[in-house]
Amino acid sequence: SYGLLFAFGQLRDFFRKFIDLFKAKNVKDCFGRPIASAPDSWFDVVERTSNDNNKTLQRTSNTSRCLNLGSYNYLGFAAADEYCTPRVIESLKKYSASTCSVRVDGGTTKLHAELEDLAARFVGKPAAILFGMGYVTNSAIIPCLIGKGGLIISDSLNHNSIVNGARGSGATVRVFQHNSPAHLEEVLREQIAGGQPRTHRPWKKIIVIVEGIYSMEGELCKLPEIIAVCKKYKAYTYLDEAHSIGAVGQSGRGVCELLGVDPADVDIMMGTFTKSFGSCGGYIAASKEIIQHLKHSCPAHLYATSMSPPAVQQVISAIKVILGEDGSNRGAQKLARIRENSNFFRSELKKMGFEVLGDNDSPVMPIMLYNPAKIPAFSRECLRQKVAVVTVAFPATPLLLARARICISASHSREDLVKALDVISRVGDLVGIKYFPAEPPKI
Ligand code: PMP
Repeated sequence: SYGLLFAFGQLRDFFRKFIDLFKAKNVKDCFGRPIASAPDSWFDVVERTSNDNNKTLQRTSNTSRCLNLGSYNYLGFAAADEYCTPRVIESLKKYSASTCSVRVDGGTTKLHAELEDLAARFVGKPAAILFGMGYVTNSAIIPCLIGKGGLIISDSLNHNSIVNGARGSGATVRVFQHNSPAHLEEVLREQIAGGQPRTHRPWKKIIVIVEGIYSMEGELCKLPEIIAVCKKYKAYTYLDEAHSIGAVGQSGRGVCELLGVDPADVDIMMGTFTKSFGSCGGYIAASKEIIQHLKHSCPAHLYATSMSPPAVQQVISAIKVILGEDGSNRGAQKLARIRENSNFFRSELKKMGFEVLGDNDSPVMPIMLYNPAKIPAFSRECLRQKVAVVTVAFPATPLLLARARICISASHSREDLVKALDVISRVGDLVGIKYFPAEPPKI
């Protein structure tokens, strides 16, 4: 047993050294790089070396104009927009940047009420409630929906905000294998009947939590199959559409629309305004009764300052563009463009021999690096060639599954994408991350 303890200690030290690598100065410049413009398809990145500290950053005026493959700017609303921006400026003049009040006191403007109605209509649910932050929407809402005596069954790759909300709820939490309806059924069966036929149901309530598009995998949720399992075992479904609302579906209504699911079959729909709408905040859309319950009981509604009015106006205007209610067809064009861009980029990367995760139509495209040591090499070399990519590592992914995560935008032109592919291909050769043979060019 001393031998085993010794081996365990060695293993633990080895992993600690790996983790220290990420905290070390020499990879600091790969994370938290400041930017100096709107996160549009091209943006200004502050030039930074690994020895910089915040003081030198404040002094330096050196920025590089880079192609942006990292921001969640799916529909291009992160940039000034001919319909949204004038309205946002008007709302800033009228309401100021903050309500300086919680919703139940002076924090509800006409804009907040309008967005709640519009968000509910957009996702196809009877009612909605807004929160100042997407992260808080999950972490504060889940404990209001379920508590001790309840069971949460969560996808193994759900976002940290969901994990936090589930842990804080006091409910029992079980995890099912990522995007596997079969394993979900196994867990449900085990939890309901303990493998034995039983008439008594041991849980007050069961909620199954999934995401529309998984943020680190780029994968679409197997929603129709998961809903079928939930219906069979009378479990509620909670769907986080942070990366799918506005980004997929014929009219941008997310995975339900894309996969032909009736929104009435999803009990709780959650989403954020930070990805497709160029704003901030989050929403829950559900039945009138659930929304009423949240308005009466959720601390993040009762005790937190409401969403900034210009941020609310930005979302209202963006949804109107998406729905064509601005009187143009720019929304439809943006949706067609993001689909076209995503499918083109994904298939070209695969042809080059990269291992790319995720499904068609998904604008989230992880390129596998695997070895964490490849992060600084890939990130710095792309940036040197004026392409900014986001690299993701432990603890956001398992230690040896490091990746670069590309987020495609409707505002990328074909020329932008071709340039990005050229740079990524050359850097991929240099760093050695083309794990498959390249497809020979068609004659
Ligand atoms: N849910 C998921 C799936 C996310 O990826 C994120 C953030 N990227 C959030 C919730 C939190 O949203 P926000 O960044 O708008 O706070």
